Amino acid sequence: MDYRFIGKTGKKASIIGLGCEHLDQKPYSQVEETIHAALAGGITYMDVFMPGEEVRQNIAKALGSRRKDVMLQGAIGSTDINQQYDISRDLPTVQKYFENCLRIFGGYMDVGFLFFVDTQKDLDQIFAGGIAEYAQKLKKQGDIGMIGCSSHNPEIAFQMVGTGLPEMMMFSINLAFDLSPSNTPVLDSMFNNWEEESLTTLDPKRLRLYALCEEKGIGISVMKTLGAGKLSSKDHTPFSAPMSVHQCIHYALTRPAVYTTLLGCQSRSEVDEALGYLNASQEERDYIPFLQKLEQNFEGKCVYCNHCLPCPSSIDIAAVNKYLDMALLHNSGDIPPAIKAHYRHLDAGRSDCIRCGSCEERCPFKVPIISNMEKAAQLLG
Ligand code: SF4
Ligand code: SF4
Repeated sequence: MDYRFIGKTGKKASIIGLGCEHLDQKPYSQVEETIHAALAGGITYMDVFMPGEEVRQNIAKALGSRRKDVMLQGAIGSTDINQQYDISRDLPTVQKYFENCLRIFGGYMDVGFLFFVDTQKDLDQIFAGGIAEYAQKLKKQGDIGMIGCSSHNPEIAFQMVGTGLPEMMMFSINLAFDLSPSNTPVLDSMFNNWEEESLTTLDPKRLRLYALCEEKGIGISVMKTLGAGKLSSKDHTPFSAPMSVHQCIHYALTRPAVYTTLLGCQSRSEVDEALGYLNASQEERDYIPFLQKLEQNFEGKCVYCNHCLPCPSSIDIAAVNKYLDMALLHNSGDIPPAIKAHYRHLDAGRSDCIRCGSCEERCPFKVPIISNMEKAAQLLG
């Protein structure tokens, strides 16, 4: 297993995480098998947003004394009032469900995240209805380790990061979502099947959100990594062929700020399939074939795919391009110090390029890598 820092929190999580949603309504033996397979594979990060008492208890029982070995993220505002998943912004109801979660998982949640903040109304209700204060109180009391937020809407998530409240963000990331225009309700497209012709280029609002999160040290845990399984289904994929689980994971993990990808496994074999990513070859992880049809839309734009490696000077070319892209969102005099610091911490960087050009021959999108190296050195060095 590999582990990444969660933004600037100083805490680390496994790059493959377990989304426990599909363990709901399952017998305890199945919950135990799945949780134990995840623990055996080195998974240290789990999402338990589900409001149901039974599934929470089953997961807590399966974790047993290993509770201390994992970070759990729980939702502030997830309820099942009508016996199905629901969202509440009513403070007493929100408190009741979250306090039940705390009680079941040993009195502490590593992350308490503000649940499903997708609209301006959601955002307003969270701040006007006392829920933001409640999250802050939980943090102050030591009941949660950090405040998070979950969203599927890049504009609202961007605003939420701007409030300075969340320390992490759970956001829906996959190639089809990133290729959808930001005014598309992506969950509707996912459930009703995408129209491939609408997937043309990476949505700038999404890219801006990921860049802001990286800049502010807000780590992203990824939900909908497989688009609810649609991307890897031959009948539902919006692409000419299904993406493999490993390609979907790799796409999410190569976005800025991402520290973990949550996979909704419900059996040992599904956990093992996800963990197979760790030993997959570069070819098996490669998602570029799904972008090749759109090549002209990507000309000159780095998608952080690492096709250009190896570099004889060991430069992390995708990382340099990523920090350059982030810097270019600002006027040259206003580049945040955090971006410069990230760039300067790269093992090899600005002055190490020997201009051999081998990377440019390998880049599928004709990114002017050598001149980008120089530009990055100029702006960030
Ligand atoms: S420069 Fe080209 S090959 Fe390298 S990471 Fe960017 S898009 Fe991929
Ligand atoms: S041109 Fe520079 S960045 Fe590209 S492979 Fe050669 S040394 Fe590395």
